Amino acid sequence: ATMPPLLAAIANAGRHGVLVKSAVVMEQLGATSQVALDKTGTLTRGTPQLAEIRLVAGTRFSSDEILALAASAEHPSEHPLGTAIVAAARERGLRLKPVDSFTATAGSGVTAVVDGLKVRIGTPAAFLPDATFNARPAAQAGRTALVEVQDLRGAGATAVVVLIDGDPVAVLGIFDEVRSEAAEAVEELARLTGKTPVLLTGDNAVTAKQVASAVGITDLRADLLPDGKVAAVQELQGAGERVTVVGDGINDAPALAVAQAGIAMGGAGSDLTLQTADAIVVRDDLSTIPAVIALSRRARRVVI
Ligand code: ADP
Ligand code: MG
Repeated sequence: ATMPPLLAAIANAGRHGVLVKSAVVMEQLGATSQVALDKTGTLTRGTPQLAEIRLVAGTRFSSDEILALAASAEHPSEHPLGTAIVAAARERGLRLKPVDSFTATAGSGVTAVVDGLKVRIGTPAAFLPDATFNARPAAQAGRTALVEVQDLRGAGATAVVVLIDGDPVAVLGIFDEVRSEAAEAVEELARLTGKTPVLLTGDNAVTAKQVASAVGITDLRADLLPDGKVAAVQELQGAGERVTVVGDGINDAPALAVAQAGIAMGGAGSDLTLQTADAIVVRDDLSTIPAVIALSRRARRVVI
């Protein structure tokens, strides 16, 4: 007996490096009318590098002290930015310290207690306003931090702020390379669906625009929390689109769940995201996305 076309397509997708979890998903993929792509870890390689530590004026901590505290706080984190901070501390030979009360907030950052100090690391949008408008010394520090944030973003970095006991002490500049295959994959997806993919990111608009323009995307939504990604997908669905979402992070899991098809980039993907996804890219290559959509289209033609 010959294998049913959708099962043959699943086997074929596997050879391309994509694990499709069911025949229903294999079929859904071909009906995609619009693709939504996450930025960090999806359009970019997801192995960001810490390039700069800008101290906020007046801080009593040295840059090594701040990096050691930040890396200790990030150690339990699954986020690529956390991994970058830990790797940078290790490269400098800094010793990580035990942490208490670690919490991660998807799409904004982490908080932990290290050496009795409350260390927070994350997106300026979530972490700067409080500190900027609280006490007076913090307000001054906050302004300086804001200038550093803008400067680093202008250079294409993701700017992450470090706060100790509520005061911004440093801004970290982290760079993530755009995948070499991303522009071609975007073009191929546009050809297959008739629409250029959209970019959904929790990162800021300045950095997001640089990545978008590098890969040929014009429609981008930045500063999105996980719920914001869901709302953006639902908006497209409300306009009649059948949406495939591609993402890697825990912050992408809710959007993957509401999409007609959710695909996780497997490399550094979080467990929750891998479980939620309908398909997993195990070969670390974005060109597998248009490839599986095309495979599904072919199988559907055979089925019908
Ligand atoms: P994306 O949607 O592009 O994958 P995320 O939603 O994962 O981005 O993250 C959005 C922003 O939240 C990051 O740019 C960063 O500023 C902040 N952030 C999230 N997690 C962390 C973390 N563990 N350490 C530092 N910053 C973080
Ligand atoms: Mg991501």
